[in-house]
Amino acid sequence: MNSLTLGNFELSIFSDGTYLLDGGAFFGVIPKTMWSKKMAPDARNLVTSGLNSLLIRTGKQNVLVETGMGNKLSERMIKFYGQPAQLLTNLAAGGISPEDIDIVINTHLHFDHCGWNTIRKDGKIVPTFPRAKYYAPEGEWKYARKPSERDAISYIPENYDPLVQSGQMTLLKGGEEIVPGISVKTFPGHTAHMQAVIVRSGGDGSHISQNQRDVGHPRIACYISDLMPTTAHIDIAWGMGFDLYPLQTIESKKQYYATAIAEKWLTVFTHDHEKPWAYVEKDDVGKMVARGI
Ligand SMILES: [Zn+2]
Repeated sequence: MNSLTLGNFELSIFSDGTYLLDGGAFFGVIPKTMWSKKMAPDARNLVTSGLNSLLIRTGKQNVLVETGMGNKLSERMIKFYGQPAQLLTNLAAGGISPEDIDIVINTHLHFDHCGWNTIRKDGKIVPTFPRAKYYAPEGEWKYARKPSERDAISYIPENYDPLVQSGQMTLLKGGEEIVPGISVKTFPGHTAHMQAVIVRSGGDGSHISQNQRDVGHPRIACYISDLMPTTAHIDIAWGMGFDLYPLQTIESKKQYYATAIAEKWLTVFTHDHEKPWAYVEKDDVGKMVARGI
């Protein structure tokens, strides 16, 4: 079971399934001889990418970070990526219905991060989570209205425009606390305005022993999104070919690690289908390692 306790919160991973991506695009300028040791490609050079959403149960609210790829892809995109569309089934298996979700947060608006924000019903686009307040970065939404030719394919307006128009989606500047203990922080690089979601314990976790707290019960977790999509991307220089601003990815990683390693944050990885979360540490020779839990 992909769940853990963080203070008074309970964190769970729910997947929308997996899809295949070109290994070269996933690892940018890193030579295949190096990345293929961490992630084995198939005969067509494709690697498996996960679609991890994070559910935070605060005791008062159910907060869902990211909504996977959804079920509204065009035929052309399905040819490239398939369309696993498993999030609602997996949530249901965990006892969560769409009506149970109070808040949805999107780190950015690429199609594989906000796909289940909406569904098509009787020819209309409607919110998948009818009671939820949705949040996404304002700069990202503005950019998505007129994206560059390079990443225009990644934006599907039906995932967010109807929610902005109806007032159900609130646009964030970056740095806001959405509910007590859950806030966003901008880490540019993958896109200019991508926001990570930082979760701080709503309590001191005093019902948990010190030993458990150190190992499996972090005090702070961060859904880092595409700043480092998998545990194979934790090295400072291992960015994705998809990153629009690769040098900023490096700066953002340094900034993140300066706090996250020092304070033992648990990092949540969107696209790692095997290790959805881990502690990132520096070993004796300065190499980044992901310690699983
Ligand atoms: Zn992305």
